[in-house]
Amino acid sequence: MNFLVNNDILESKNAMLFIWIEEQIQNYIKKRNLQKSDLINLGIGDTCHFLPPLIKQAIIDSAIEMSEHVIGYGDETGQTFLKEAIIDSNATYKEHFSTNEVIVTEGIANSLSHLLQLFEKKAKIGVLSPSYPVYSTLLSLRGMKKIPIKQNEDLSFTPPKEKLDAIILCSPNNPTALAFSKKELQMWVDYAKENGSIILFDAAYNSFIFDDSTPLSIYEIEGAKEVAIEMKSFSKSHGFSALRLGYCIFPKEICYKSISLLPFCKKIVAANSNGVSYPIQKAGLAALSKEGTEISMALCKEYLENAKTLKAHLLKAGKHVIGAEHAPYLFMKGNRSSKEMFNDLLQNKNIITIPGCGFEADGFLRLSGFISKKTLDLAVANLTLEENHDIC
Ligand code: PLP
Repeated sequence: MNFLVNNDILESKNAMLFIWIEEQIQNYIKKRNLQKSDLINLGIGDTCHFLPPLIKQAIIDSAIEMSEHVIGYGDETGQTFLKEAIIDSNATYKEHFSTNEVIVTEGIANSLSHLLQLFEKKAKIGVLSPSYPVYSTLLSLRGMKKIPIKQNEDLSFTPPKEKLDAIILCSPNNPTALAFSKKELQMWVDYAKENGSIILFDAAYNSFIFDDSTPLSIYEIEGAKEVAIEMKSFSKSHGFSALRLGYCIFPKEICYKSISLLPFCKKIVAANSNGVSYPIQKAGLAALSKEGTEISMALCKEYLENAKTLKAHLLKAGKHVIGAEHAPYLFMKGNRSSKEMFNDLLQNKNIITIPGCGFEADGFLRLSGFISKKTLDLAVANLTLEENHDIC
């Protein structure tokens, strides 16, 4: 093959890391004559429950509906029934937005990929460091450069002095599970207003916020409507990672030279995808019902509790670990490179993690609480084993 390839993806550190992880796992299981399923996977932030009957039924019913009525292309920004349910699901949305400002997508990766097309390639996009590595991949795929915003010693982030065109904020953040306070978010909104920047706000983990003082949405902040676009996913909150559903709230006040950008964003969505499949939107409607919300809340509490249990054991073992606050992740500091730490845990404890270098944080590992009860018990048992005490 000899064609002009997009070098940015070949050189993507994130893609390379996942290839490296898989190689380490394959080498290890071959050496020990194990199956991958024998390992304790604390690596991925993915669902570990079957589809609830409520969601299964919604998909079946929508297929029956489609076999009895003609349902074709719908509104590419989402079906009204789902947009209404989204607005009703959040008191802040209800206060500030109409269904016209909701754009249904296949998840946050999809929303962000649409939204980045609003910016010129040379736009300066600020990205928190550490944060979800896909932001960097999406930027490099568009030939855009990111401006890293480094975490302070006290784990906070400060708006930069320079003017950025956009900033991708994530709260609660992956991998640290830390959320911005109202005061901190106000600082970012003020920065965006002063500099004419847009905040792309990733709220993938907001359903794991269970205290009243931490904002669930950036629109709880004064002035955010003029500068922030919020992205939300059903992947973590409702176990929809394989169904693919999310949305963004795109306020009509988001303007370029007094022209609202909302119709232009809708154009981008239409050109890229023509919308989300009808049965999945019906599943989303069921997920936002009273029963669906109760299931989601129980799920989120369970994952968060798993992370808290792991954290307690690691702290007891003298590890430096943060997280399990507002998202089911732990971020553990060691005294070696994160790849060495990864191999220590793999080879001494049969545990898979994600090296912090994937989040631009070498010397750290991310451990996930998105695990079953069986995996939790195995992880706790292995982490507390006496031999091989120096796990990192
Ligand atoms: N945003 C963050 C911060 C994530 O950690 C993830 C997945 O791990 C996503 C977005 C992906 O969301 P989606 O499945 O909606 O694309």
